[in-house]
Amino acid sequence: MKKTVSFSKRASNVFFHILTQCNLSCRHCYINRGQHGTRAVSRDEMESWLSLFAEKSPESNVIFLGGEPTMHPDLPFGIKKARELGYTSITVDTNGYLFHDFLSQVSPLDVDFISFSLDGATKGVNDSIRGTGSYEVCLAGIRKAVSMGFSTSLIYTVSGENLTELDQMPPLLVDLGIKEFFIQVIGIRGNSAEKGGAHLQVTRDLWQKVVPRVAEHVAGLGIPVTFPKVFLDETDCFECAGLVANNYFIFPNGRVYRCPLCEDYPLHAHEIKDNKLFDRPKIHEMDLFQLAIPEGCVMNKLIQPDNLSYGPGGIPRYRIACCLLKERVEPGCAPL
Ligand code: SF4
Ligand code: SF4
Repeated sequence: MKKTVSFSKRASNVFFHILTQCNLSCRHCYINRGQHGTRAVSRDEMESWLSLFAEKSPESNVIFLGGEPTMHPDLPFGIKKARELGYTSITVDTNGYLFHDFLSQVSPLDVDFISFSLDGATKGVNDSIRGTGSYEVCLAGIRKAVSMGFSTSLIYTVSGENLTELDQMPPLLVDLGIKEFFIQVIGIRGNSAEKGGAHLQVTRDLWQKVVPRVAEHVAGLGIPVTFPKVFLDETDCFECAGLVANNYFIFPNGRVYRCPLCEDYPLHAHEIKDNKLFDRPKIHEMDLFQLAIPEGCVMNKLIQPDNLSYGPGGIPRYRIACCLLKERVEPGCAPL
């Protein structure tokens, strides 16, 4: 059975982009160097910034991101510092290239999950989105990590270009030894926004027809699945994570956002200067979160409204959930 994961302030989730540089240039990359610069955090900043967020809530989870975080030579140092600072869970999101011999620099005790990004079940579809050769490298990286005892998860970002291959993922996940499967939905920011990403968005009918079914299939094979709710049902209550949860999206230029959909704009609620965290003066993203609109998420309406649909009299046919609201399907469901 799928369950909605409620928002809570008991845990802080720290999405730490330690650099914006990457060896790939995925068609849907959300990194916006115009907004977040090209620098990498220094070793000292890595430690100081991690301490700023370590005790914001009773539990803190950190996800190291980039760009490609394994391109940063101090990533293993950051991971070990996060452990010392008491972070409850430590995850590294990678495209699979695992630079600087990353797997030899850390142990499975240091990292809770290494999360690999793959956007197609086949080389053809994945490489058309993420670049030639990236499929084989990612699969080899997963196999190596699994063979060394690391827990691995896989992130599949669904868009109009790869939804059809989601059905082919379950046997691949089993074959690779993946422990958790995360389905994401395309956000129209970064490259996708620049190139006019309306065609990448998936309709409500298609999303609801395909994603929960594949999730239950995968869970039936023993692998837990998490996927975004995206479209609210009539009886669902709308909540904005920016107001009721503690998520921090940190960039190497010191910007700290509370909502990932705001990242293409200088709307960040906080800023790190001289290794101290400050609230920014109004107007910023937190002021937008307060706006109650019939379409649900206000930032969705502002930046990626092509997933909305209206009936007679301009009434929205449904509401869009917070992009951070997730459904989780635990193993135990019968395979379809
Ligand atoms: S999506 Fe990730 S792997 Fe792809 S170009 Fe962007 S940062 Fe690199
Ligand atoms: S995605 Fe929408 S609902 Fe969620 S934090 Fe951002 S503005 Fe709030």
